[in-house]
Amino acid sequence: MKIPLSSPDITDLEINSVISVLKTPNLSLGPKLLEFEQKLAEYAGAEHCVAVNSGTSALHLIIRSLGIGKNAEVITTPFSFVASANCLLYEQAKPVFVDIEPRTYNIDVKKIESKITGRTKAILAVDIFGYPADWAGLKKLAQRHKLHLIEDSCEALGAQYKGKKAGVLGEAGCFAFYPNKQITTGEGGVIITNNDRIAAECKSLRNQGRDECSDWSKHQRLGYNYRLSDINCALGIAQLARIEEILSKREQIAKIYREKLQGIEEIVIPQDSNDDIIRSWFVYVIRLRNDYSRKDRDHIIAELRGKGIGCSDYFNPIHLQPFYLKSFKYKKGDFPVAESVADRTIALPFFNNLRSDQVDQVTNNLKALLLSVNKRKD
Ligand SMILES: *Cc1c(COP(=O)(O)O)cnc(C)c1O
Repeated sequence: MKIPLSSPDITDLEINSVISVLKTPNLSLGPKLLEFEQKLAEYAGAEHCVAVNSGTSALHLIIRSLGIGKNAEVITTPFSFVASANCLLYEQAKPVFVDIEPRTYNIDVKKIESKITGRTKAILAVDIFGYPADWAGLKKLAQRHKLHLIEDSCEALGAQYKGKKAGVLGEAGCFAFYPNKQITTGEGGVIITNNDRIAAECKSLRNQGRDECSDWSKHQRLGYNYRLSDINCALGIAQLARIEEILSKREQIAKIYREKLQGIEEIVIPQDSNDDIIRSWFVYVIRLRNDYSRKDRDHIIAELRGKGIGCSDYFNPIHLQPFYLKSFKYKKGDFPVAESVADRTIALPFFNNLRSDQVDQVTNNLKALLLSVNKRKD
């Protein structure tokens, strides 16, 4: 029996919502776009939401709208999906990586200040695996050094930090809706902000540089086609209507994993919510203890896959991605915490409708493999 790494949760509500849009003449820039944006803004507790065709597009437009370009440096994390640094390269800005905390895998705020130079324009922090970064610490630094503060909250829809929802913890944030995220639109993303100017500029940039109230054939700036169709938005509205159910299903599955894996000496299980933080479960990523090697980890992943259990090595650090090694002077050892974490993580199957007997199957196989790897070492 195969267990995928992730799987979208689509009900009749989603299917019927998409079909009803197809019966209207408004397949793009129609009422579903506005409704999706309004409902998400309300959910996140933000003034504005601007929907685009991916989370990567959302990040790109945030960078562009803040005027971060050539010669600008932006402090960010190497332990993330590659888009959180690529968005800077699109605008010829330079990512300046800062290592992560070993507990949360988020950017280590203590290590930021020494990397700030006269060219630093912003800090771009990621709420990795749905666990919010240290936003109080980040905000202090951004204010002290007059830097923009950007939140890549693509993995954190529904997470909270000190009573505020992820997405509004910086000047601008974003969500992504690829099928493995908490909710999906097939492909899609949004920019979330309380800043009127950023929102207006992003709306124009996603729509070929048109201003909202001006003529369709007038292009005020260099724009893109980053629009999200009403078909996608209808899917998103239906998913968002189920957000509490979706988040609690995910919480429940994380709880079952925790019960099965707690106390196993060979691994570190993911951080839970606490007084300040509500985690939104995006993926379930365990880590092997430091005496295991990358080879051990890769062996375990290959064996699990061989048994039909989907798993992955989230994330290979961005500075060690082939393109970054080719283009910049990064090397192994530059960000030791991120590298050490990246060598030992295993993302286990995680999706809304994962059954507890499937979790059993995953954890039993994992335990057996940990024992066999241990034995190989003796
Ligand atoms: C998913 C994700 C994105 C955006 O991904 P898209 O596939 O472009 O929607 C950006 N940053 C992080 C950290 C992500 O996980």
